[in-house]
Amino acid sequence: MNCKLCQNALPNLLLKPAAPANAAARAHIAACDLCAKDLASLEATLALLDTWQAPALSPYFDQKLAVHLREQLSAPPAGWFERLRTRLLFNTGRHLRPALAGAMALVLIVGGGSFGIANFQHSRPVQVSAAVNDLQLLQKNEQALQQIDQLLDDNAPAADSDAAPPQS
Ligand SMILES: [Zn+2]
Repeated sequence: MNCKLCQNALPNLLLKPAAPANAAARAHIAACDLCAKDLASLEATLALLDTWQAPALSPYFDQKLAVHLREQLSAPPAGWFERLRTRLLFNTGRHLRPALAGAMALVLIVGGGSFGIANFQHSRPVQVSAAVNDLQLLQKNEQALQQIDQLLDDNAPAADSDAAPPQS
């Protein structure tokens, strides 16, 4: 077991130190000072948490809460600005999710549409230039073929004239 695997096994080792599944982690900690130090630190943290005492509730907590609830229920309804402010401050965003999904869908549709329009506008010059390139290539090839033909035509009589004297 390496140190990374041992770090992942430390919580299990803390909860069940004698479990057979933690034998490899125990063996690594016996040999590795770094992991042993981490385990000791976690054990100290857990021991400190065990000493913590939750504060006792006030004996009048329930009565105070009931009085406060009654006050809030009997208070005049808040204005629209106060309700909006409360909703923005304390909401979980759950009721905004459909609106958010709709806005994102709108962005996708508008973005995709403009992307398609942009491609459509740019596709024609690209196709024209590709055709022009093909025509230019064909023209160059034709010129090259003509030049080769001219060279061959120029060479042919010379070859004939070279070959002719021995024959005549
Ligand atoms: Zn280690």
